[in-house]
Amino acid sequence: MSTYHSTRGGKEQLQSKQAIRRGLAPDGGLYVSDGLDALTIDPADVAGLDYKGTAKLVLSRLLSDYSSAQLDSCLDAAYGEQWSDPAITPLVDLGGNDFVLELFRGPTSAFKDVALQLLPRLMALAGDDGERIMVLTATSGDTGKAALAGFADAPGTGITVFYPQGKVSQIQRLQMVTQEGGNLQVCAVRGNFDDAQSAVKSIFADADLAHELDEKASTVLSSANSINVGRLAPQVVYYFRAYGSLMERGVIRPGDPVEFCVPTGNFGDVLAGYYAKMMGLPVARLTVASDRNRVLNDFLTTGVYDRNRPFYATTSPSMDILISSNLERMLYYMAGGDTELIASLMADLESKGRYQVPEALMTRIRGLFSCGWADEDQVGSAISDCWEDRGYLIDPHTACGYQVMTGQTDRDPAVPRVLLSTASPYKFPRVVCQSLGLETPDSDFDCMDILAESTNTRPPKALRTLENAPVRFQDCIDPGDMSDYVRHAVMQS
Ligand SMILES: *Cc1c(COP(=O)(O)O)cnc(C)c1O
Repeated sequence: MSTYHSTRGGKEQLQSKQAIRRGLAPDGGLYVSDGLDALTIDPADVAGLDYKGTAKLVLSRLLSDYSSAQLDSCLDAAYGEQWSDPAITPLVDLGGNDFVLELFRGPTSAFKDVALQLLPRLMALAGDDGERIMVLTATSGDTGKAALAGFADAPGTGITVFYPQGKVSQIQRLQMVTQEGGNLQVCAVRGNFDDAQSAVKSIFADADLAHELDEKASTVLSSANSINVGRLAPQVVYYFRAYGSLMERGVIRPGDPVEFCVPTGNFGDVLAGYYAKMMGLPVARLTVASDRNRVLNDFLTTGVYDRNRPFYATTSPSMDILISSNLERMLYYMAGGDTELIASLMADLESKGRYQVPEALMTRIRGLFSCGWADEDQVGSAISDCWEDRGYLIDPHTACGYQVMTGQTDRDPAVPRVLLSTASPYKFPRVVCQSLGLETPDSDFDCMDILAESTNTRPPKALRTLENAPVRFQDCIDPGDMSDYVRHAVMQS
């Protein structure tokens, strides 16, 4: 039975359902489980398993208080017809022992679907009887839509998403404001993402509001952000599945090493690869690829994590992050479970915006994790290189990874490399067209059509049809009114 506790200490041990319900530990730490190496999966056992079969094997270890029947019903609902490929996360051969793991075949065309299609189902089984959950999310773009699609009409849940007015792309806005479902609200907020995010944090901290919502509507507020165990665990699955695919194709034999290269923001996706390694997957290296907001690259290089730096709004917005929350979990495991060290590093981050990790620990970390970053010019040329050299179209986030991966000078050509692709190129058609030297008319939908025609590829249907989808949500409010908005949304539902 795997139990969870905070990275920052304390004696409390929770089952995974409670950890999923809570999200964050009361001391601000993240929930972790010890003894992952006792949950080992023999790599040979995943050959021949499909996505759901692999997921069952991995999740029965990480979420061991869910019954077998509960996991089956959650997995059936999460990984079904809403995916455009029956493989869920297909593996594409790029040639030269390089592969792409496509994580964007879900309903919103970004990798967050992998976790957010499953999380609502896990949450619905984690609540007390008769209790409703209202999920609050502030989004800079991708997360909001993936969360809406996951929670739409999920039993026992509601969701309210706030996005900064004028600060998300045309397609991202349309994806959110056209979302169907009877249990959701989408609202623009005047200000930037940080204003919306701060207001959401203070709503979570408002004990009076929590009491009122509980009394009057038996509802608790919850978050669906990427530190939740219920988002991390589903991401471990596709590392095992990629390995399974490589075995089935005869590229590797059970036990052979594989490298992964991961475009990173909050360190969630790449952390899942580390979990896979701790659970027995032969991962030889995990490459952390950043965009121009290269705080993780600098940390891995110098041992100093420093968020006191300019913030750049780049062409890869989902990686524009200065505080990579999930890094805390990696530090916890690499430090051998030293909760005191983690608590003191995180206190430094809180008070000074920076912390320094002891050199011996950095050496251990660098034994597994390597790093790199790409500026926007490099992202553009990576998109065009990948298309010219490999005949494969990538989005700007994946392009950061491609640039870093192909720039590695210390690769062992006998070891396959898997690049995780986190978004469909059609989610960012303007940047992709520009990078390929194509025309870029004012409408993103015209860019999609030009891209389709020039590359002989097809946009995901759900993206192309957004142009004429009915807009359901027009509200725009000040950050100070968000709390009332949430109260109203709860009482209405
Ligand atoms: C969220 C996101 C990322 C970064 O993932 P993390 O888990 O935060 O590292 C990369 N690419 C896309 C398209 C994303 O939506």
